[in-house]
Amino acid sequence: MEQPLLNLHTHRNGPFNLRSCDPKELETMPLVENQWFSTGLHPWWLNEATHQEQWKKVELLADRPGLLALGEVGLDRRSPVSLALQTQVLIQHIELALDLDVPLILHLTDYLDTMMQLRKKYPKGKWIWHGFNGHETLYRQLLSTNTDFSVGRRILLPPSSLHKLVEKIPENRIWMESDQEDDQILRNIYQKVSEIRNTETDILSLHIFVRFQKELLNA
Ligand SMILES: [Zn+2]
Repeated sequence: MEQPLLNLHTHRNGPFNLRSCDPKELETMPLVENQWFSTGLHPWWLNEATHQEQWKKVELLADRPGLLALGEVGLDRRSPVSLALQTQVLIQHIELALDLDVPLILHLTDYLDTMMQLRKKYPKGKWIWHGFNGHETLYRQLLSTNTDFSVGRRILLPPSSLHKLVEKIPENRIWMESDQEDDQILRNIYQKVSEIRNTETDILSLHIFVRFQKELLNA
């Protein structure tokens, strides 16, 4: 049997992929059984004039079969809209994720204080920091909240603080992802993380897949 390498965040289809789609992309996609998605308004693609229509699409997709998470969403200096509007839209996603009882996939690069304030204000519901970058202070703050960490291609770069933290992430709080990269890179990421954590890739990937079934598929 194919080893289930669960890909928590990617923009491509694949047998064990949680594919992150823009709502416009997802609404036109045919329904296929056993495909898993997340959707949401990435801060880069927000539009001051049309964000309400953009948001309506997200709400309409909430019942779509295979929708297991909301995101990726977050706050980002490179967004074309104000921090106030980004925050408002992020809160809409946080509240909808709570209603749907699904995790939120977080794009976490800027405005970290605002993000922490929101995490404290909304302690319920799982958030997953996608593309975990090894920011130690933020890691420590988030470790005491209901937040998980998804490790991507950065772990393949030369050793850094990220390696030290990845060694320590609790086993029930770690995920792996290829994001924009080809699926093949995911195997390298799993191998690298198992090496750092001194475990077997098969064991690690099986544990993650079992957790995925329990926590996201509710199986
Ligand atoms: Zn992404």
